[in-house]
Amino acid sequence: MNLKSERRGIHVDQSELLCKKGCGYYGNPAWQGFCSKCWREEYHKARQKQIQEDWELAERLQREEEEAYASSQSTQGAQSLTFSKFEEKKTNEKTRKVTTVKKFFTASSRAGAKKAEIQEAKAPSPSIHRQASIETDRVSKEFIEFIRTYQKPGQDIYKQCKLFLDTMSHKRDLSIEEQSECAQDFYQNVADRLQTRWKVPPEKVEKAMDEVEKYIMTRQYKYVFCPETTDDEKKDLAVQKRIRALHWVTPQMLCVPVSEEIPEVSDMVVKAITDIIEMDSKRVPRDKLACITKCSKHIFNAIKITKNEPASADDFLPTLIYIVLKGNPPRLQSNIQYITRFCNPSRLMTGEDGYYFTNLCCAVAFIEKLDAQSLNLSQEDFDRFMTGQTSPKKQESDSFSPDVCLGVKQMCKSLDLLSQLNERQERIVSEAKKLEKDLIDWTDGITKEVEDIVEKYPLEIKPKSQALAAIDSENVENDKLPPPLQPQVYAG
Ligand SMILES: [Zn+2]
Repeated sequence: MNLKSERRGIHVDQSELLCKKGCGYYGNPAWQGFCSKCWREEYHKARQKQIQEDWELAERLQREEEEAYASSQSTQGAQSLTFSKFEEKKTNEKTRKVTTVKKFFTASSRAGAKKAEIQEAKAPSPSIHRQASIETDRVSKEFIEFIRTYQKPGQDIYKQCKLFLDTMSHKRDLSIEEQSECAQDFYQNVADRLQTRWKVPPEKVEKAMDEVEKYIMTRQYKYVFCPETTDDEKKDLAVQKRIRALHWVTPQMLCVPVSEEIPEVSDMVVKAITDIIEMDSKRVPRDKLACITKCSKHIFNAIKITKNEPASADDFLPTLIYIVLKGNPPRLQSNIQYITRFCNPSRLMTGEDGYYFTNLCCAVAFIEKLDAQSLNLSQEDFDRFMTGQTSPKKQESDSFSPDVCLGVKQMCKSLDLLSQLNERQERIVSEAKKLEKDLIDWTDGITKEVEDIVEKYPLEIKPKSQALAAIDSENVENDKLPPPLQPQVYAG
């Protein structure tokens, strides 16, 4: 996805939200600008290549081993040695990855503390554990009740889900991408089965798929959300740090058409922030998506009330960026990654949820790249704000303490505006006077110039050189005209 910034601030062409393959679905930076479908195709290709490379490596090692065998005439264990060498090479690669992850955790005391937190999360306190299992039980019960209404196909879905969960419990060692792949395949297969084998109508399939997602992801959540094998957590910390560093960004800099002085608007802003923060507490990808959608609708409302007209897509993205900056939602990257990997892809590729999700990904990408130009600031100012030397809010908020009520703040602002207005008025009057003087000077100047020219070149009226001929002297057909009318007297 190509992010471009204009002088006006932040703008993303709506077409840039779509898959870069041009299939018409929504794209996503997490899929390198592809939609879920095209990304999986690309991913398959990459994996196929990896398998091919592994195979070639194995073959090469085999050849080397055979050559060594031929030269040494040794007869024992050539075959197993080859394979173990290959395995060794592969494991080396893996441990290298693991050590870099470990390195990150031990890099600083703060990161170390974070590790302790993770370990704690892995062994949750009994009460948290109980709470989670109560929720899991409730979801299971609801799922069984729902699936009963589908009769035979319902039984089949249930069997498929059980089978999937069982398979997944043996696949915890797989990379998160591979586990995501399994989940996506599973969604696809269940939907296909319902449609082709059981002839379930599309709207009922969609409803069932939502319930399937809820059921399996409530159970999978603790294994696949922000897993230790990924750098999701590292990215979370990076985004959080970045957002904290940008705490000084004002709505004006982002050209956000939202005026928080209006109580109704400020209410909407608070609700939007609450929604986006709440996303982290949900376990089902679709519930997380619903939080994003709710947040986005509050944003649209805030813009609509401020502008007194419906919000455009151009207003929406900067406002979403502002809300994310203001809310600093916990584990933002982990949540985005989790949704990307484990949500039913049909939800992300089209529709309202997909649109808002793509915008959120876009907003995060923007926050990572936010610079002086996109905030309409000079590089010096941007650097000064970033390093905390000064803050644009400082002059404004210094004049009154933060607990002064809204009315007083508004009054101060109005007074400030009035004095600015007064200043401008005075400037206009003085400029007008100057203009008047300039005009008079200009008229005088022109008059003088004309007089000078007249003096230099006086107007001389020359005598007539020849008598003018009669006007109609050249009218050859004069004689054909009727005689002039004569006055006549009528009796009576
Ligand atoms: Zn696509």
